[in-house]
Amino acid sequence: MSEAELVLRSTRVITPEGTRAASVAVARGRITAVLPHGARVPTGARLEDLGDDVLLPGLVDTHVHVNDPGRTEWEGFWTATRAAAAGGITTLVDMPLNSLPPTTTVGHLGTKQEVARARAHIDVGFWGGALPGNVKDLRPLHDAGVFGFKAFLSPSGVEEFPHLTQDELARSLAEIAGFGGLLIVHAEDPRHLDAAPQHGGPRYADFLASRPRDAENTAIAALIEQAERLDARVHVLHLSSADALPLIAAAKAEGVRLTVETCPHYLTLTAEEVPDGASEFKCCPPIREAANQDLLWQALADGTVDCVVTDHSPSTADLKTGDFATAWGGISGLQLSLPAVWTEARRRGHGLEDVVRWMSTRTAALVGLDRKGAIEAGRDADFAVLAPEETFTVDPAALHHRNRVTAYAGRTLHGVVRSTWLRGECIVADGDFTEPRGRLLTRPR
Ligand SMILES: [Zn+2]
Repeated sequence: MSEAELVLRSTRVITPEGTRAASVAVARGRITAVLPHGARVPTGARLEDLGDDVLLPGLVDTHVHVNDPGRTEWEGFWTATRAAAAGGITTLVDMPLNSLPPTTTVGHLGTKQEVARARAHIDVGFWGGALPGNVKDLRPLHDAGVFGFKAFLSPSGVEEFPHLTQDELARSLAEIAGFGGLLIVHAEDPRHLDAAPQHGGPRYADFLASRPRDAENTAIAALIEQAERLDARVHVLHLSSADALPLIAAAKAEGVRLTVETCPHYLTLTAEEVPDGASEFKCCPPIREAANQDLLWQALADGTVDCVVTDHSPSTADLKTGDFATAWGGISGLQLSLPAVWTEARRRGHGLEDVVRWMSTRTAALVGLDRKGAIEAGRDADFAVLAPEETFTVDPAALHHRNRVTAYAGRTLHGVVRSTWLRGECIVADGDFTEPRGRLLTRPR
């Protein structure tokens, strides 16, 4: 018998080999063994029998805007990590912008880590930012443990985080490739955005026309070219345009070091159903048509798209005005991402194993966290316990996000998260949280 302080037993444990009845032994925060369901519980170990509830690895969300410090009225480490824990997420990686300062120097990273340290209910890591003129800061940030660097190719929405021109992108990417780092990119081409009709106002169709697919397709094509030329690792953030999929598939087939994510809102909401004036649905790139969504699901199924992350990017409610041109662009999804994706996945014939691969295993692999993302011996004992057949109706008042604005209000979703476990400790069960136990993560070397 393996060493165990705790044994989690379920008739449905999602392991890399598939779903099976098992007992998962845990000691000192790690999984020590995955044993047969009826295995004898070692003397002194506590048994947690989950019955038929599913035990899955805690989700790893590599795209979250926590905004802390500086815009904590939008979100903060305390609220974001509680919402994440309530949604079955045990690790998040914070985006370098919308906080003040942005994570663009080692000093700023230290400021952010200091703020997160006492408030993190789950494990937290950080992306750095690549701005015009901060090439000299990239290597020190890499050495200080950021997981990679985010760049925009079009305006970011906040003035302290300017976007890169193609020349600046080439300079930053060459530097990052030189030390084996990862560049993650908001890929919309500003020339196509400038050329698109900009009507403003409350009509969603006008907003959609202002962020055309061409802007994404062109930016992704240019990014692939640069990645290929420099043999650099690049990751396309929040893919929305399915038109770019053939390009991505071809680049991957040719060996370009390219990965791609998409988000729950692109997979579960459609342009056709967004009410006019409902800017809780506004994000960039935008939620597109149902036919586009079908292709994104196909791309997840065949591996052209690697993973699913929230791009949780809230603001205060007053910035979500009825005018799509001026309303803050960002969708809050941290607490609802697992049930939202699972609800649509099951409707389309996918299993929970697929959802785990997209939202935990592959995201952990993207940032090199080899102790996260799977239930197997040696990994951290991070789990979500899910009742996948149970449904609930989204009530904004029940969210732990700082601002209870959500595009999912009133939807009935499958999948109730019963509890979430971090390194062998139950951190939330039925809405009751422990004190924060999260750790700050740095890029494994
Ligand atoms: Zn984002």
